[in-house]
Amino acid sequence: MATAYDALVSHHREVFLLGSTSALLGWDQETYMPTGAGEVRAEQLALLARLQHERATDPRIGDWLDDCEAGAERASHGEDDAAERAAIVRELRRDFDRATKLPPALVGELAEVESRAQQAWAGARTDSDFAGFAPWLERMVGLQQQKADCLAETGASRWDALADCYEPGMRAADLERVFSPLRERLVALRERLAGGRAPNHAFVRAKFPIPAQERFVNAVVRAMGFDFERGRIDRSTHPFCTGTGADVRLTTRFHEDNVVDALGSTMHEGGHGLYEQGLPVARLGTPLGEAVSLGIHESQSRLFENHVGRSRAFWEWVWPQAREQLGAGADGFAAAQAFRDANLVQPSLIRVEADEATYDLHVMVRFEIERELIAGDLPVADLPARWNGLYRDYLGVEVPDDRRGCLQDVHWSCGLFGYFPTYTLGNLYAAQFAAAADRALGGLDRLIGRGDFAPLVDWLRDNVHRHGRRYSPAELCQRATGAPLSSEPFFTYLEAKLTDAYEL
Ligand code: ZN
Repeated sequence: MATAYDALVSHHREVFLLGSTSALLGWDQETYMPTGAGEVRAEQLALLARLQHERATDPRIGDWLDDCEAGAERASHGEDDAAERAAIVRELRRDFDRATKLPPALVGELAEVESRAQQAWAGARTDSDFAGFAPWLERMVGLQQQKADCLAETGASRWDALADCYEPGMRAADLERVFSPLRERLVALRERLAGGRAPNHAFVRAKFPIPAQERFVNAVVRAMGFDFERGRIDRSTHPFCTGTGADVRLTTRFHEDNVVDALGSTMHEGGHGLYEQGLPVARLGTPLGEAVSLGIHESQSRLFENHVGRSRAFWEWVWPQAREQLGAGADGFAAAQAFRDANLVQPSLIRVEADEATYDLHVMVRFEIERELIAGDLPVADLPARWNGLYRDYLGVEVPDDRRGCLQDVHWSCGLFGYFPTYTLGNLYAAQFAAAADRALGGLDRLIGRGDFAPLVDWLRDNVHRHGRRYSPAELCQRATGAPLSSEPFFTYLEAKLTDAYEL
């Protein structure tokens, strides 16, 4: 007779199959779908989303979880097995509670306001018309406060409750402790670099044929260890990674005059892809076969994009291949130029175009503001002034209009509050993992300098990928690196690299 545990696991496997089917259709929509198929595709995706939601909130799950938690079935299993089962039950309980705690009326209203606010935002951004978006943002903040009240656990703020959806266990107070000192050091570093020798970007701006760029970046991702038998790379307007285990789809983009962007985007998505390919295939369809959080996922992409792809050792290794693949256009450049160009620091207005040294300052502006909005301390009408003031303080730039200011990101219009800090967490975790791997492997640069990525990937598989959601992000970080989350490894790495690139 099937036990409650078996029923729970096979039920969840179907939720996973539905979810991964929608992801595949979503990938197709962004890559190969003929334009005329848009309407039927929306219907297909809506049906799958409905089926998935119905299954994920099936009341029988609550009964099965109760039975499992009563512990009646534990006795017959070995210790490892019991720990694994306990982790699966714990995480499925978390998912079930999150999916069922919100009243259906609120879920419906959120979905409707998300869709309409996003449209209002798109128009307001084009016209730089904050007043046109403000009523929608006000409504959205109100709904997010209600959502937070349904989800909040004791001791957690409303913002904490929202952020927990993306980074389990993340609290604003913990982040503040890590972010505040980092912010001061990043601001000081930005000022210091202004006195160095800035890269001239001649290599970044050089033109290379797109097929040549494509061969070049694909060869790099192959060398990183991305398995083309269990994944592929295509093109889309905005690069992304989707799929899991045996079928991981990456996309990237090319511009004739920016091979560094193509390489960075592809290595970034390749890092996400390695994580997905490293999750235990035998556990797919259970939480142990799923990524643990957005912050940890982002750490895998940033590690390859930045720690590997913007390092001097990497450019020295890759340069002969780059010259061969990119052709005559690469003559007259050298590895050192490419390394320096890949590390230009230039405080700017737009987050998605920001460099490594100022990116997190953009995130911190949003972290401040969204906490104030959700806590009710900042009236929506005062948002632009608050935004512009923080940009002046953190980045030293004047915001000329709201289009390039507080209207630039889609996130708040579609209800993503508590999401932004996961980008910075990705950078911090990446640096912490890179430093731990560096110690364990006797020098990462030595390996990168000869294109030997297997030891690094094995270290990540062993310490991060194979665990899925077995540990919380904070526990995973502690186990893998021997220390809790800290900004120290990130800043140390960044300062060393940039003072080298800027010849300070
Ligand atoms: Zn990413």
